[in-house]
Amino acid sequence: MTAMLRAVSWAFRGLRNCSKPLSARMSSNSADRSCALAEKVAVITGSTKGIGFAIARRLAQDGAHVVISSRKQQNVDQAVATLQGEGLSVTGTVCHVGKAEDRERLVATALEHCGGVDFLVCVAGVNPLVGSTLGASEQVWDKILDVNVKSPALLLSQLLPHMENRGTGSVVLVSSMVAYVPIPKLGVYNTSKTALLGLCKSLAVELAPKGIRVNCLVPGIIKTEFSQVEKSLPYLLPDLNDIYGLQRFGEPEECAGIVAFLCSPDASYITGENIVVAGYSPKL
Ligand code: NAP
Repeated sequence: MTAMLRAVSWAFRGLRNCSKPLSARMSSNSADRSCALAEKVAVITGSTKGIGFAIARRLAQDGAHVVISSRKQQNVDQAVATLQGEGLSVTGTVCHVGKAEDRERLVATALEHCGGVDFLVCVAGVNPLVGSTLGASEQVWDKILDVNVKSPALLLSQLLPHMENRGTGSVVLVSSMVAYVPIPKLGVYNTSKTALLGLCKSLAVELAPKGIRVNCLVPGIIKTEFSQVEKSLPYLLPDLNDIYGLQRFGEPEECAGIVAFLCSPDASYITGENIVVAGYSPKL
């Protein structure tokens, strides 16, 4: 009963957001948005910074109730406070996606606060090693594959019964352009991101009969802490011009609109797609 009441009050908060003047709900100069995701619930991993945070903000601006998560409580608190301060409907919990008990808590939080789940966006990803594929220890292999590849599937299997109940649903995985154009010093990470392209196709086919769509965002180089574009990138990828068209790096917000679209009814006939947001590359 308490959970149901919470879900109802949550829903009303969402409605209020959508009816606010745009100036009050938008933090960016984005154009009018239609609240296409009103009354929907989105769970997003790795969403306290960078690309995940931009996606969380955008889905909430479009009317969804968003459950934010990442490993560190202080990052979760800060992200939730920032977005709530913008009048957006968000809650959050700690979730290291590689830990089963954390995934369970994330599912429980979504159900308790929002009463169900419509969208899962799996952003969390790691790369603990700069080095060759064959130089990686078994521990490194396990960590990268656990976090980047296994965790989205395991989390989805826990959420699936609750998504199925809603009749339709959308899942977005986050790969990388290194899935297509591997950077030699990012050996195992490259492989993990290529695996996600296959996971997307496979899940799309499996879940189509249940009305759940699965797509994959494939970012190019986006300015975040993870990519460290000023510090590490010149060492990892000295010849950027060889690959990139727009002659600049992307911003996290430039990855968010496509995810909002993939979650919206406008994408109702789109599943199993790997969609590149990389400023054009002739090699992709
Ligand atoms: P970021 O700015 O460093 O943000 C990473 C986010 O994930 C943070 O909120 C971090 O918070 C959280 N996180 C890290 N490890 C986690 C784990 N094991 N479980 C749960 N949350 C975790 O990174 P980003 O650049 O936005 O990258 C996000 C995703 O995009 C990654 O999958 C990455 O592979 C992919 N990607 C990035 C780029 C790029 O150029 N930036 C390009 C292609 C693909 P905590 O520290 O609190 O956990």
